[in-house]
Amino acid sequence: MQREAVEQLSRELAGKSPEKILRSAVDFFGASQVALASSFGAEDQVLFDLLHKAQLPVTVFTLDTGRLPQESYDVLDSTRKHYGHEIEVLFPETSAVENMQSRYGPNLFYESVELRRECCRIRKVEPLKRKLSTLTAWICGLRREQSVTRSAVAPIEWDGAFGLYKINPLAEVTEEWVWEYIKSNHVPYNALHDRGYPSIGCAPCSRAVKPGEDIRAGRWWWESPEHKECGLHREKH
Ligand code: SF4
Repeated sequence: MQREAVEQLSRELAGKSPEKILRSAVDFFGASQVALASSFGAEDQVLFDLLHKAQLPVTVFTLDTGRLPQESYDVLDSTRKHYGHEIEVLFPETSAVENMQSRYGPNLFYESVELRRECCRIRKVEPLKRKLSTLTAWICGLRREQSVTRSAVAPIEWDGAFGLYKINPLAEVTEEWVWEYIKSNHVPYNALHDRGYPSIGCAPCSRAVKPGEDIRAGRWWWESPEHKECGLHREKH
């Protein structure tokens, strides 16, 4: 795959609608080479709906870390049923979780940034790596306004951390746009959003935020903002 051709396409797609970015990127890479990574957050649900409406035969997969809130399993189930679409569920390697938890205990993520990242690596990054090694590009729900670490997100970019392209159809949309889409298209969404959770990950590492607070303030709230990625979206080159 020519890096220049992808960069050219990404430039052409700047400022275009999420539908246009999604369709053009899937056409470019080929549907069998692309998958949507979903954690059933608001943005991922919009992407699921857009893929469904555009009838793009793209695999949707999710990472079951073993520490998700019940509400995330509920929305996984309601999404499967609503769209009649299979969702591939990836689990961490059993022995790695057993060793980590035996050595450091069940709440290791609160003890240090290093242990929190180790938990994210074992429960999220390694299963994700396994899946991404079979693809040319993955679709993500990243938006520029989500955090300081996401302010330069492009429609399509090289993902140096995993060695494939990342498609970001929602790079330029606002939170208001996402919720307007969800409501007007009757898209299923995680019940925790109505309880003040703008961003939902594992249960012990997500909490509600106050009105006006940064939308990532409820994730790993005990860490400073520049540390707040789980290894899924850290490197850009
Ligand atoms: S978000 Fe928390 S519980 Fe989930 S993998 Fe990362 S550190 Fe572990």
